[in-house]
Amino acid sequence: MSLFLFKVLALFLLNTSSNASPTQSRRHCRFGDTCWPDESTWQAFNHSISGRLVRTYPAAAVCHGQTYDAAECEVAKAEWDNSFWRTNQTGAYTAMVWELGNGQCFINSSRNDACQPGLVPHYSVNATSVADIQAAVRFASDKDLYLVVKNTGHDHLGRSTGRGAFSIWTHNLKGRKWMKNFVAKGVPEQAKGVAAVTLQPGEQWLDVYRAASQERVIVVGGAARTVGAAGGWLTGGGHSPFANAYGLGVDNLLEATLVNAKGEHLTVNQYTDRDYFYAIRGGGGSSWGVLTSVTYRTHPEPSHIQVAFVQVNATSNSSLRPVLERSLGALVNMTDSGYTGYGYLSGAGFTSLFIKPNGTDAQLVKAAAAFYEIGQLPEAAFAMLNFTFPRWIDYCNMFLQDPNIAQNVMDSSRLLTPDMAFNKADKIIDMMLELSEENYPFFNFIGKVNPAERNKTSVHPVWHNSRAVMSFGTNWNDTASDAEKRRKRQLLVDISKRWGNITGPSGGTYANEANP
Ligand SMILES: Cc1cc2nc3c(=O)[nH]c(=O)nc-3n(C[C@H](O)[C@H](O)[C@H](O)COP(=O)(O)OP(=O)(O)OC[C@H]3O[C@@H](n4cnc5c(N)ncnc54)[C@H](O)[C@@H]3O)c2cc1C
Repeated sequence: MSLFLFKVLALFLLNTSSNASPTQSRRHCRFGDTCWPDESTWQAFNHSISGRLVRTYPAAAVCHGQTYDAAECEVAKAEWDNSFWRTNQTGAYTAMVWELGNGQCFINSSRNDACQPGLVPHYSVNATSVADIQAAVRFASDKDLYLVVKNTGHDHLGRSTGRGAFSIWTHNLKGRKWMKNFVAKGVPEQAKGVAAVTLQPGEQWLDVYRAASQERVIVVGGAARTVGAAGGWLTGGGHSPFANAYGLGVDNLLEATLVNAKGEHLTVNQYTDRDYFYAIRGGGGSSWGVLTSVTYRTHPEPSHIQVAFVQVNATSNSSLRPVLERSLGALVNMTDSGYTGYGYLSGAGFTSLFIKPNGTDAQLVKAAAAFYEIGQLPEAAFAMLNFTFPRWIDYCNMFLQDPNIAQNVMDSSRLLTPDMAFNKADKIIDMMLELSEENYPFFNFIGKVNPAERNKTSVHPVWHNSRAVMSFGTNWNDTASDAEKRRKRQLLVDISKRWGNITGPSGGTYANEANP
């Protein structure tokens, strides 16, 4: 048995040991279950963590019933789709589907309407120290609680929420430490220190980028402002505009500290525990413990950031299919030249923004040649606009956004490989054109990822050769009927099956942006 497999089994046993025989799975007590602790037990626990226990409600609860608060309700209405406000709330989630489920607690419905708890946890620990996290893990373990970890609530798969759960909320654990010569624990004596930053688990990308610009370095991070810089983004992989140069987030991780299922606080890196380090670099969500800090390698600032908008449109119905199909191949050519980006396909054609640190005009013209050629087809048009930003922070200030906040968005994705783009584009575009425009695909990330660290991480192997995260999405109004929600969820399942038929068994996707 490999050491890795042994450790997986050991962790499983740890998780199932209390109150369960070896053949029984462990209880996951939720609010309302008979095994949920009584109120006096909760209050004793709250006392032990200096009053950091928070009763958790959906974000619109301040506008309803007994939780109504006129001033807070006004703020909630004004800030409803503001990702900064939303990530500051214990019970708010980016995708309403993970906040309300099929429940009702709408921001604009009458004060007298019921506010159902939906899917949010019942209690959260507003953690401000490692000791708070250790206490919460031990309490959850002792009482067999259904435990979740919430950082920003951005998760596409709903892993940071859970109906009636007990939550550890890391958002207020902030802090950054910049170092010129970081040496990981256990590094052989002769090894040199490297430039690095240690982030506390509540840090968010825009804050990190602003601080990095003061230090004149860059950190490989997400293309979003409020996504957590040290939570689920990392444990799922972490794609970035800098991924072509420096790999995924997990590839830049030098060390992490975490609280494991026993409540122990550990330092994990390739010297202290290679298997554990492998597992947290892609193993996803909070599967392997609660991260209490992460240390990333930092990199010198590029001399400039080149940006290009590329659009290839069909000017007739008959040219749409060739434009769409050939755009997938052209996207591969573009990534071969080191461009990363974000884009979408529509009933008009292909649109994308591409980014290259230190990129030159000559490199762009060569890289975009395949898009230009598509534009030369009969009834097709090509347009490109390019410019440079002096610094990464200038790009961030202009372009970073947090889309789809407070929507019921879900998606079904695959990592697009050159084989899919060149040999299976017809099948992918068949699927697109059979769907309605609402579901048309978008690229949450385009890029050829530096593979140097790939075999040392647990992200899906298809990242080795992928060129984009390609997703079909769906959305619905909060007030949609249960039948409509079921139909739309089922559509995503059907799309996932269809993706599976196209890619075959070797296909895969980005776990953080998959169909739950
Ligand atoms: C607007 C938006 C933009 C995005 N942009 C990008 C992007 O550019 N690149 C990219 O790769 N992805 C991107 N994503 C996807 C993103 O990586 C996932 O949503 C990710 O799960 C967010 O992690 P979080 O910690 O911020 O969110 P949460 O929902 O709080 O947590 C996500 C998961 O991580 C776990 N977790 C959180 N903190 C910890 C911790 N301290 N220890 C252990 N487990 C923890 C949670 O339990 C949950 O399982 C984006 C998502 C959104 C909504």
